[in-house]
Amino acid sequence: MLTYSNEKRFALLRSFEKAFSFRFYKHFVRTGLFLVGLAVVVFANCQKQSVKSVAIEANDMCSFCRMSISERRYAAELLDADGQAFKFDDIGCMANFLRQKKNSAEIRATFVMDFEHSQWIKAENAFYVRAAGFQTPMNGGIVAFANRSSADDAVTKYHGTLQRFDEVVK
Ligand SMILES: [Zn+2]
Repeated sequence: MLTYSNEKRFALLRSFEKAFSFRFYKHFVRTGLFLVGLAVVVFANCQKQSVKSVAIEANDMCSFCRMSISERRYAAELLDADGQAFKFDDIGCMANFLRQKKNSAEIRATFVMDFEHSQWIKAENAFYVRAAGFQTPMNGGIVAFANRSSADDAVTKYHGTLQRFDEVVK
């Protein structure tokens, strides 16, 4: 009698242990999956932010019109998911390249040269001035500025229009 009830007690204990460990396991898996998901999102964001611009070299050619990139201050650049860099002698050439979907890989980053300081800036952060008076290499007629007030000054001086990147590539 005593043995039986002891056995019963053990069985109860064991089933309780099982249930507990199963619950614990489920919780553990759920937390684990959440952490893995979080890590993937964080990693993907870091990847996106860490895409660095590539310098224009002396022999670089425009990926759209095949002309050499002689004047850096009009240049633009596109980096895709395959790590390939496409460089352009004119912002208009990059706009045409994007419109015609010349590359199949996902676009990771786009940069344009700040007209004032000849330094790469993120294309989506730049202020663009479109004016017929700009003598850009392929007559795209668009220059980019990091500084909003410099862009406004250029609009006044050249009777141009101020645009953002989505309007430039439209
Ligand atoms: Zn070009």
